[in-house]
Amino acid sequence: MTDAPPGISSNDKTGTLPTEISRSGDFWLDDGNIVLVAEHTSYKVHRSFLARHSPVFKDILSLPQTGNVGEAQIEGCPAAQLSDSADDIHIILSMLYDSDHQYMSPSITLPFETVAAMLTVGMKYQIDKLSQEAIRRLKICFPTEFAKFADYNVFMNYYECDESASPPIEIFEEEAIEVVRLASMFDIPAILPAAYYTCAHLSVEELFSAVNKQRWTMSMLQTCIKGQSELRQRDLAQLNVLFRREVSLSCSSENHCRGGMVELLKKLQETRSLSGMEALVPASRWFEDLSAGLVCNACAATCMSAYEDARRETWNGLGGMFGVHPWPITEKAL
Ligand SMILES: [Zn+2]
Repeated sequence: MTDAPPGISSNDKTGTLPTEISRSGDFWLDDGNIVLVAEHTSYKVHRSFLARHSPVFKDILSLPQTGNVGEAQIEGCPAAQLSDSADDIHIILSMLYDSDHQYMSPSITLPFETVAAMLTVGMKYQIDKLSQEAIRRLKICFPTEFAKFADYNVFMNYYECDESASPPIEIFEEEAIEVVRLASMFDIPAILPAAYYTCAHLSVEELFSAVNKQRWTMSMLQTCIKGQSELRQRDLAQLNVLFRREVSLSCSSENHCRGGMVELLKKLQETRSLSGMEALVPASRWFEDLSAGLVCNACAATCMSAYEDARRETWNGLGGMFGVHPWPITEKAL
């Protein structure tokens, strides 16, 4: 303990405590009666308070005679070494002790890694309100409803700054890999289809890297690649719907629109990636620009409506593509 700050020392019996420990700036409470140690940070808090909120803490921090806390002491307090990161423990303590903490506030955008930590430690310590809040935020980003998916631009890769908007999570597309891992680990199938769909946008290298880094199993990789291939087929089917159409019954200029539809097909062939990754992008995002001047308003509306029907069909098949049944999931079933 040569480098320990003044006032922190562990007795000879600690054994497992790290040799360098510093007090938490926020959670070293004078009247605390238990010291938690996570990585190299110590937290002096209240045993019964933690036990009241978490059955797992209740077990871990049970009295020494049960053998769980052991004999380690810091400043005369029983000390428990935890395997969690200091950041994770800080999240738990802040959520439990601070009335003005940020985690439950719907108007505050949290970084993805914070939400992932809330889910992980909430599940581990059975602090339901922490894990439930993380799941609530994830479900907004990875929705189960077609209508909510229509505004699918939650990712910071695309997020357009709008001061009035506060996305639930500051998340980038590539972090969907971790979302799939967490949803699989903690059995949250509702967010898997949209999360896999997002992963299907990533490069093969990124997906294989998830397996190499042991974030994904081979089975997850197979699910994603199989889904990618089905999405490609669906995308083609959606485009076919557009070009099998006759002009609208209310068409104002049939010859012009027939020619316009051929032009439209050419333009689409040039611009569409056909990777399948645009299969769920609403027609409202691209059709108007693409068809401007080529077809009349009535034909444009008919095409878009047919395309949206086909897109909804793709959405309805998304669960099947990525191994989630039943799908679509109704709110009641969540
Ligand atoms: Zn027309």
